[in-house]
Parts: sequence; C-alpha cells; structure tokens
Amino acid sequence: MEKEAASIVKYLKANGGSVTCAARELNIKLTKGLRAELVHIDSNLERYRYAFRRHGNWFTLPTDKASSRDAQKVNSVCLSCNQIHSVALIGLVSGRSTGCHTCRMKERENIQVSSKDAEQTFNSIRDFAKSVGQLEQYQSLRHKLKSQGSVVVDGTEYCLN
Ligand SMILES: [Zn+2]
Repeated sequence: MEKEAASIVKYLKANGGSVTCAARELNIKLTKGLRAELVHIDSNLERYRYAFRRHGNWFTLPTDKASSRDAQKVNSVCLSCNQIHSVALIGLVSGRSTGCHTCRMKERENIQVSSKDAEQTFNSIRDFAKSVGQLEQYQSLRHKLKSQGSVVVDGTEYCLN
C-alpha cells in the first residue's frame, strides 16, 4: 500500500488533480487504508487539485483549498511576465481571466493600425489619429476601428491588425 500511496503522490506532484482522479488514472483502488496512508505522507494533497494547468497565459500552482469553489483562488504564474498572482478559479475555468492585468493592458496597447495598401503602419490608434490629423476624433476613430475593424479617412481605408 505504501508503494501505491507513493505513486499517487508522485502523480499529483507531476500532473495536479484530485486524489480520486490520480487513483483512477493509475488504476489504483482507493481504499480507506490507502487514504489514511496518503494523509500520513502528505496531509495537504488538496493543494494539487487545480495545479499545473494552463489557462490562457496562466499556469496554475499548488494552492491551499478554500472554503468553497466560489472563494477558491489559485496561485498562478503569468507566463508573459513570470509574476505570480492569486487568481479566482472561476475566472480561470470560464476563460475570463487569461493573464495578469499588466500584461493584458500591454497587449491592448500593442494594437496596430495600417492602411489597406499596407504602406502606412501605426503602433497605436492614437498614433494613427495623430498622423491623419484627427486626434480630436480619437474616441470616434477608436470606436469605429474596434467595432468595424476598419475606418475610411480621406478616401483611404485603415484597418486594425
Ligand atoms: Zn503578466
């Protein structure tokens, strides 16, 4: 039984998931005695439950179990900047949270606008608005680009990349 318990722990540390899942994957029958042995080896195997999963740019780490699923947060590394954040499990599994706030803001700024013939490229909507002399219309240009994907200024079509 010690060998089986050790295999389960090893599995959890490599793959994450619950004890039940690990036992099923390894084809091990989860008896009362085996459960006791597992607790003896490691009393907090629950922390692997949501670990080692990729959700967007997040990679989840072992985290203590919360009182409810709604309250569950999971320590996660943002793979863009290597910072560890505590992220709501619900946001992770629903796909609403895909990376840390800072990186998402940066990504948003990385939008490019270019003319249809690709002769002109701008690194932001603001740069574009300034270049075509419509900085006062920035909000309206931005709205059109975001909703329609393109906008026509002085007969030239510009697209969001
Ligand atoms: Zn980040």
